[in-house]
Amino acid sequence: MANTKGPAGRFGARYGTKIRRKVNNIERKQKAKHPCPSCGEIKAKRISLGIYQCRKCEAKFTGGAYTPK
Ligand SMILES: [Zn+2]
Repeated sequence: MANTKGPAGRFGARYGTKIRRKVNNIERKQKAKHPCPSCGEIKAKRISLGIYQCRKCEAKFTGGAYTPK
């Protein structure tokens, strides 16, 4: 089966290779930790569309839909 690795592997063989590759790229970025604008630690996680929260200082901030920038 072609390209079932990465976050989009849950779709199995559906939706086509190209779209799954795109989903993989985006989801990998959104699950990664981002720098917190208030304390500077790489501890901020995306909690919702455009909303991020720092695991260290609990600061919530907004950003892009998938990544803070
Ligand atoms: Zn912070």
